[in-house]
Amino acid sequence: MAAIKLGALSALIGRSSRNNCVRAFSTVMSPPSKAVVYDQHGAPDKVTRLVEIAPVQVKENDVCVKMLAAPINPSDINRIEGVYPVRPQPPAVGGYEGVGQVYAVGNAVNSLSPGDLVIPFPPSFGTWQSYIVKDQSVWHKINKDTPKEYAATVTVNPLTAFAMLQDFVRLHPGDAIVQNGATSIVGQCIIQLALIQGVHSINIIRDRPGADEAKENLKKLGADQVFTESQLNLKNVKDMLGGLPEPALGFNCVGGNAASLVLKFLRNGGTMVTYGGMAKKPVTVSTSSFIFKDLSLKGFWLQKLMSTDKASECKNMIDELLNLMRDGKIKYEMELVPFNDFHSALDKALGKQGSRPKQVLTF
Ligand code: NDP
Repeated sequence: MAAIKLGALSALIGRSSRNNCVRAFSTVMSPPSKAVVYDQHGAPDKVTRLVEIAPVQVKENDVCVKMLAAPINPSDINRIEGVYPVRPQPPAVGGYEGVGQVYAVGNAVNSLSPGDLVIPFPPSFGTWQSYIVKDQSVWHKINKDTPKEYAATVTVNPLTAFAMLQDFVRLHPGDAIVQNGATSIVGQCIIQLALIQGVHSINIIRDRPGADEAKENLKKLGADQVFTESQLNLKNVKDMLGGLPEPALGFNCVGGNAASLVLKFLRNGGTMVTYGGMAKKPVTVSTSSFIFKDLSLKGFWLQKLMSTDKASECKNMIDELLNLMRDGKIKYEMELVPFNDFHSALDKALGKQGSRPKQVLTF
C-alpha cells in the first residue's frame, strides 16, 4: 500500500468519487487496522483476539505508522496476565515495541515524512496493530537499511543488555561476567556486547532438549563458557572457570537454582543484577554469601531507566545498537510469523511447543 502525505493529497479530496480508498485516506483518517486486543487480564491464549479497528483521525501533530514488525516479549505476556507492575487498563491492544513505516503525517509534522522507518521511543503500549496513530514526539526515526526484525526488537532486550553492562560494575578488557538465561535475547546480546569490550562471558542455560545445540550457538556468538545447570551441580563451580578470571558482575533473569549458580561464580565483593524471573522462583542467598563474600544484589528495570533523565542516553544507545546490528556484530535468532497467525506465535512464545526463538509478528 502506498504511503500518503496528507497535506499533499488534500487537493485530491472530492476529485475522484470513483476512488473511495484514496478519498477516505486523504481526509485526516488512518486506514482501518487489525489489532490483537484483550478485554480483561488472564491467560494470554484465552483472553486475546484479533479484531478490526475502525479508522481514526490523524490530527495535525499526529503520525500514522504502518507497523511492519513487533515481537512477543515475556513482559507483553505478563501485562496481559495482569502481573506486570505497569500495564494498560483493559480493553487494551497488546505489544510494547516494534517498527513501522510512516504512512501519513498531520499538517504540523515536519520531522517525519511518509516512507520513514520509525520505532516508538520510549516504547509504548499497543504495537500489535497494523496502523498506529500517535503524536510525532513518540516516533524515533531510524536508518532505513535496518533489518525490520532487529529494529522491532532493539528497544527492550538489546538496550537492557547494553545498559546493564554499563550501569553496575566498571568492566575492563580481560574481565569476565557470568549470567543465566543466556539463550534469551538479552543473554545473547550480553555475550556479544561483552565480547566487543573484550570481556569474557560464562553462561548458564537450563537443561532441556536441544541444550547441546543451544550451547554451540552461543559459542558461535562468542560465549567463552556455556554450562547447563546440571553440569554445575558441583561442590565448587569455580573449578569450571577454565582459566577465566572470577567475575565481579553477574546477571540473573531466571531465579531459583539458576540464580544461586550465578552467585557461586562471583568473586568476593561481586554484584548480581536481577532483571527477570523466568522460572518464577525466588532468589535465595546463603548467609555466608553476605558475610564472607560481601556480595551485593541489585535489580534493573528498563522502564524505570527510561523515565529518568537517562532517556536521551537510551536513544543514543539504541542508535549505536542498530549500527552494530546493521554491521552484523549483534545478531540473535528470531522467528517471523504473519500477524494473522498471532495465536500460533503466542503459543510458541508461551512455551507450549517447547523452547522456541523469539516470535516476531510481521504485518
Ligand atoms: P526471550 O523471550 O528471548 O527468551 C526467553 C528465555 O527464558 C530463554 O532463555 C528461555 O530459555 C528462558 N526460559 C523460559 N522459561 C524458563 C524457565 N521456566 N526456566 C528457566 N528459563 C526459562 O527472553 P528476553 O530476552 O525477551 O527476556 C529475558 C528476561 O529478561 C525475561 O525475564 C524478561 O522479562 C526480562 N527483561 C527484563 C527487563 C527489565 O527491564 N528488567 C527488560 C528486558 C527483558 P530456553 O532457551 O531454554 O527456552
